[in-house]
Amino acid sequence: MLLSACQHKPTILSEQELQQLTSTQIMHINQQSCLQQDKYAVMVRPTHKWQQYLDTLTQSLPQSIANQTLNYRVYLHTQPDAWATSNGCIRITSSLLNHLTAQEVQAVIAHEIGHIALHHSEQRFQMAKYAEIKDNGKIMLLVPKTLSWQQELEADRYAVRLLKQHHIDPNGLISMLDKLSDYHKEQSQSHPSILIRKNHILTWIQP
Ligand SMILES: [Zn+2]
Repeated sequence: MLLSACQHKPTILSEQELQQLTSTQIMHINQQSCLQQDKYAVMVRPTHKWQQYLDTLTQSLPQSIANQTLNYRVYLHTQPDAWATSNGCIRITSSLLNHLTAQEVQAVIAHEIGHIALHHSEQRFQMAKYAEIKDNGKIMLLVPKTLSWQQELEADRYAVRLLKQHHIDPNGLISMLDKLSDYHKEQSQSHPSILIRKNHILTWIQP
């Protein structure tokens, strides 16, 4: 009992400890984070209709990036959300699948692939002042807002290119942002405004 009580404490990493982490160690933390979040979430079975739907949408997207095999799974959840870890986990909630069109979901996924391809997690670990790894596997990193904003825009830019390459209309990125704007308010610190993102995306979409 004593041991399990200890496990409920979040792991705290100082700036100095973070700077000493190697790429391999950061990848390992990401791997553990994904495993732990999968344990805590309600992940649907591979035969579930939502998972099968996601599988059809990802057929026309990469199956691996930056030497990582991409692993796309659905969580049952009432909030539309998506995230990725650098080892190739991409997680999409059922609510997101429910709210968005196929093209818009592919746009979200392309953005998440961008974070993996551009090694954003490693950058964040290296520049963070403080990190907390929660019991549920979620990693909270205190990073400068400028870095977060820059990474979001870079992932958007990557997504536009990836979607075009795979013959998927990149305008899904714009309509997806509009639809998720209500939920986006919570992310106002870590993400640039919808307007800023849309303006950039529109210029990148131009041939
Ligand atoms: Zn992002």
